[in-house]
Amino acid sequence: MQCDHPDLFPAALGQHAAQALYGHLIGGVIVGTGGSEPLPVIAPATGQRFAWLSRGGAYEIDAAVQAARAALAGRWGAMSATERGRVMARFATLVLAHTERLAWLEAHDTGKPVAQARADMAAVARYFEFYGGAADKIHGEVIPYLAGYNVSVVREPLGVTAHITPWNYPAQMFGRTIAPALAMGNAAVLKPAEEACAVCLELGALLVEAGLPAGALNIVTGVGEEAGAALTAHPDVNFISFTGSPEVGQLVQQAAARHHVPVVLELGGKSPQIVFEDADLEQAATLVCKAITQNAGQTCSAGSRVVVQRSIAERFTALLADRFAAVRVGRPEDDADLGPVINATQQARVQGFIDRARADGLPVIAEAALPADLQGGYFVAPTVFGPVPATHPLVCQEVFGPVLALQLFDTEQEAVAIANGTEFGLVAGVWTRDGARQQRMARAIVSGQVFINCYGAGGGVELPFGGTKRSGHGREKGLLALEELSTTKTIVNYYAG
Ligand code: NAD
Repeated sequence: MQCDHPDLFPAALGQHAAQALYGHLIGGVIVGTGGSEPLPVIAPATGQRFAWLSRGGAYEIDAAVQAARAALAGRWGAMSATERGRVMARFATLVLAHTERLAWLEAHDTGKPVAQARADMAAVARYFEFYGGAADKIHGEVIPYLAGYNVSVVREPLGVTAHITPWNYPAQMFGRTIAPALAMGNAAVLKPAEEACAVCLELGALLVEAGLPAGALNIVTGVGEEAGAALTAHPDVNFISFTGSPEVGQLVQQAAARHHVPVVLELGGKSPQIVFEDADLEQAATLVCKAITQNAGQTCSAGSRVVVQRSIAERFTALLADRFAAVRVGRPEDDADLGPVINATQQARVQGFIDRARADGLPVIAEAALPADLQGGYFVAPTVFGPVPATHPLVCQEVFGPVLALQLFDTEQEAVAIANGTEFGLVAGVWTRDGARQQRMARAIVSGQVFINCYGAGGGVELPFGGTKRSGHGREKGLLALEELSTTKTIVNYYAG
């Protein structure tokens, strides 16, 4: 390793899984943390520990930042954009080849159905294909200026980029934030969520196998207040990407301000799906149900509110009740629609919202059954309440669980006001066959994405994604992510003299 951190002991790449102790990836090698108790890795479907995670802090973060800085000054910094793209393409191929192993690990770690975890691995590969392919296609520009001048604007990496990710989609978040950073030639330090991140370490090892130079990606595991806070406070970090809660997002932005470092914050939402009376109600009901049950509702862009025109309320709630009655909850291996939530704390939190809604007398429109044999896991029964008043916590707060709040409207104007009536603004869905109304709604809704007669929970890799208001700022995905993860330099060359 290039840095002066003698307490980090190297372990051979790839052995960490067999030891069931996941080390950090720093400077191209897997290292452990001496002296601190590792963190248990718990399977949410059973409540059982199946591995340990190294608990890094300021020391490991500093080593990782130094390793990233050394990579920029060394082989990684000198690598052409085309070669960076090739490494990324090789990694994508490796991910696809290892999908089964990675998907089972991810499913075990997060509790999600293994079919969803397989789709997540395909998404990781896609992120690296997309951004790896773009690496050598982001060109600068030449500006016509005064006679005798040649002015060019070149795009450059930011330097050392920090990435703090949540537990809901560990693999997908890895792809979403690391792929564009590497494509633009940055050296990255990732602090994934302590609740679930084993797959990130496996993906990091595969990137090294694909030929990524040492230090171009470093991963330090540990708790947010220790490793996460140390990363955001590090003076040699040039950019921070954070996905998680609005509260921690605020801390991250404050830490970034101390060093004048740009941040991209993705902080969740309370995304509405607005269903007009002329919509294809069957199709809308199917996707409204899917958009809140997928990943047990632990998706920042989950459609957690359904806003329904009063004239079709009875018919649409009957359709929703049908869809939710058919939802299957189970363990990763059960081929169910959703699994447990991430841990006991989150289970208590989500159940707290459900209990409060019942205590407040909100009508239950639909409820999926929980099979009797799921003891030990952190399962929550998907539930739909409605109508829910605009001031109720179920409408105003992100539950991050499979709980849907139904609201009613009469006019289009009212629908817009309800859609925009929370502190969040991440994604919205509009269901109507009226073309003019589709456009009016899309323009009037305040959010980063609007889906019309479809819903994609953030959509594909190609689609720019991010929030407004309390949902955060900055854009990920699509080519826009490459702009966030790079900067420009204007070169003014006077040649006429
Ligand atoms: P969190 O914000 O606490 O954690 C997200 C990441 O930030 C983790 O990697 C964590 O280790 C790190 N972190 C925590 N404290 C930190 C600090 N002081 N400095 C730097 N990094 C820190 O989110 P959570 O506890 O995992 O979940 C809480 C709520 O956040 C959820 O219930 C949900 O509402 C929301 N959430 C949103 C998303 C999303 O995709 N927008 C994802 C997960 C959670």
